[in-house]
Amino acid sequence: MNIEQLDKEFVLSSYARNYTSFVEGKGAKLYDDTAKEYIDFASGIGVSSVGHANKKLTATICEQAKQLIHVSNLQVIEPQAKLAEQVVKLSGYDMRCFFGNSGAEANEAAIKIARKYGEINFHKKRYKVITLEHSFHGRTITTVKATGQESFHTPNFSPYPDGFSFVDRIDAVYSAIDEETVAVMIELVQGEGGVQPFQMKEIQELAKNLKSREILLIVDEVQTGVYRTGEFLASNLYEIEPDIITLAKGLAGGVPIGVTMTSLKEIFEPGDHGSTFGGNYLSTKAGLAVLEVLKSEKDSGAIRKRVELFGEHIEGITKRYPELFLGNVGLGLMLGLRTPSSQVQKDVLSATFQEGLIVLKAGRNTIRFLPPLTITKEEINEGFKRFEKAISTL
Ligand SMILES: *Cc1c(COP(=O)(O)O)cnc(C)c1O
Repeated sequence: MNIEQLDKEFVLSSYARNYTSFVEGKGAKLYDDTAKEYIDFASGIGVSSVGHANKKLTATICEQAKQLIHVSNLQVIEPQAKLAEQVVKLSGYDMRCFFGNSGAEANEAAIKIARKYGEINFHKKRYKVITLEHSFHGRTITTVKATGQESFHTPNFSPYPDGFSFVDRIDAVYSAIDEETVAVMIELVQGEGGVQPFQMKEIQELAKNLKSREILLIVDEVQTGVYRTGEFLASNLYEIEPDIITLAKGLAGGVPIGVTMTSLKEIFEPGDHGSTFGGNYLSTKAGLAVLEVLKSEKDSGAIRKRVELFGEHIEGITKRYPELFLGNVGLGLMLGLRTPSSQVQKDVLSATFQEGLIVLKAGRNTIRFLPPLTITKEEINEGFKRFEKAISTL
């Protein structure tokens, strides 16, 4: 059997798969099994933050794998403690971390923290979480319920946990709050929902209002975190101090990891929460290597230059192809082009892939760009050359 047949025979069909098989990567380039080259403007959905086969990351993973991959969280794990220190330092917040393996798992921990806070601090228990329409928080039963899109709440998987509701705009949060509301959970730039940033002022007002009511602000930075928007966290860019922040995608460059950070530093006691794999030697060593690479790229101004160049290309495309794109959205290296219909979105996706460029789709008929944060000037220019060649055929 070939790979496609094997996949279809033995893997459950939960993805609408493209059957191109990639066998190698270098920087922002990928090669399939026919040796065709692609420019990667997707990073495996924002994961390969330092590109493919990054020297520092692969050497770190190889060395650590030879030494020790895993013990368990019953022992102290040196790189886990060090990664927690790094993440907290870079965030600028006074927080502690819990380590899991994915974005959904990080959000589950965030919700557990909020629920415990609501149980122990108030005479009348608080447990309700308000989220936003067009949000995405994961695929577990609880995080799917927290995701503010009706289409995700199919009866196939019901009943879902109680205590979640969603509203269609930030200023609708206020009227949705009741005496049992414990937290509001948002993305600052809705990734899956169409690369849509919220306005800084409305977010700052929300943060202030929630603080005054002792309602927690959970910011899901699974996609926006780790320099994706240009700053270490989008929360830094928005100049807010959330109570809980979750990270995952770009943090370990492709090794599964999830982090839940909170200023409620004493919230958990032994037994409250756990994860077998979470924060093991391999993933946290990888996370340390990624942060070392990205911090130096940020400090040298290299990330800022890439943000500028990428943004200029996106602006240019928007101006030159008004019939294909209604406008551009996003922040940093998390950018989108809005198309007028799902048909145009589909046509752009297939034409670009054909041309040797990988981009992503997102909600609101958006073409989404999440390139490696280490992408070179040449790779950016070549990628947009291919993009323009592809769309000029439409
Ligand atoms: C991808 C994503 C998740 C889910 O992460 P998984 O690792 O797939 O569980 C949650 N929230 C946001 C904002 C995401 O982009």
